Amino acid sequence: MRSLLPCLLIVIFNSCSQSTEKKTSSLNTNINELATSYIKLGLSIGAYDPDFVDAYYGPDSLKPVGNKNAVFPKDSFLLAIRSLKNQFDNIENNDSVAFSRARWISAQLTAFERRVKIFSGEFGDFDKESQELFGATATVFKEGFFESELKKLDSVLPGSGAVSERFQLLANKFIIPEARIDTVFKAAIAEAKRKTGNYFALPSNEDFRLEYVNDKPWSGYNWYKGNYQSLIQINKDLNIFVDRAIDVGSHESYPGHHVYNMLLEKDLYRNKGYIEISLYPLFSPQSLIAEGTANYGIDMAFPGIEKERFTKEVLLPLAGLDTSGLSLYYRALSIRQNLNFVRNEVARGLINNTMNEAEAMRWLKTYSLYNEETAKKSISFIMKNRSYVINYNYGLQLVRDYIEKGLNPSDENEKWNRFKVILSSQVLPADLQK
Ligand SMILES: [Zn+2]
Repeated sequence: MRSLLPCLLIVIFNSCSQSTEKKTSSLNTNINELATSYIKLGLSIGAYDPDFVDAYYGPDSLKPVGNKNAVFPKDSFLLAIRSLKNQFDNIENNDSVAFSRARWISAQLTAFERRVKIFSGEFGDFDKESQELFGATATVFKEGFFESELKKLDSVLPGSGAVSERFQLLANKFIIPEARIDTVFKAAIAEAKRKTGNYFALPSNEDFRLEYVNDKPWSGYNWYKGNYQSLIQINKDLNIFVDRAIDVGSHESYPGHHVYNMLLEKDLYRNKGYIEISLYPLFSPQSLIAEGTANYGIDMAFPGIEKERFTKEVLLPLAGLDTSGLSLYYRALSIRQNLNFVRNEVARGLINNTMNEAEAMRWLKTYSLYNEETAKKSISFIMKNRSYVINYNYGLQLVRDYIEKGLNPSDENEKWNRFKVILSSQVLPADLQK
């Protein structure tokens, strides 16, 4: 009789474990089916909204077929989004993989809902839109903050007059001549790739194509094509300053967007079969992670004085430019970094109708140190993309704080390890704030 109890326990344990296994496998099947519905829904919305899908490299069979309605079916999209989101939200925390996938897709669907509303002319205020689209609300900065940052710049720039004019005068020494732009960009990207390759094993067939374009509201863009290939476009509408070759180059390529998309495709889509990763919806929490990491990646590839050294020794000679004034220029640029949040306040003002365009131009010219044409370009970006601007600066801040928390600054390996975790997992902006 005494031996019966352990036997009974073994029988119960086995049946329990079989039932858990069964439950887990049905949950996985269920999440894959739901994730497929998520892709189909996203691609259907993208058939109307040309900015909705930033990248898709999954099966063609999930793309919508047949003629679309003449009118954007806002209400039926909203119903479909809510119903699908409910199903993801009902997946309980009894399987960590299915649950974390469901949680990530659910946050993406919150963004779908807000974007469908925006696309059909139903707007929210700046913070509400950014929270729903990108999963974050950016810190508010008053004008006084920018005034005091500007004073720091005032004290290092020579001459008298408006700080922005003195800054422009210095910056204009470092405009890359048109004929040298391609050479300079290729050199900057090659160096960023070399640095990234020291820490990440990149797919052997990975590659990118570089193209120069005009009439765009952005300075550069990565169009990820799948199978580890990117098309990188650089906008030549405005003068390109030498430091921008490093910033835009590594932001779009290594270890920026090209690497981010490749690691997601390799680690999650191909190795683990997470179908949802094959769709990258532009207006979603994924973009805060993408822009934040792409901006942080510039400093990963060119840490400390590396950027200035590389500019002086490699890029300026390639551009045929003189190196005098370069240290001062980089010092001014580092102070100007704190002025990046100006764009949020301008966007907040324009979206919330608390700032008119003339006032927005004044803020951008005074505090962002933009010239007339760059300020206009910035406003056209904001009018098109609304609260998207927070992804660049607030996204950068969240990524930086997360990676550098408790980090030994000289431990480069650990820094790249933490960076890779963000680049190759389903991280939400809220996870970076824990
Ligand atoms: Zn970007």
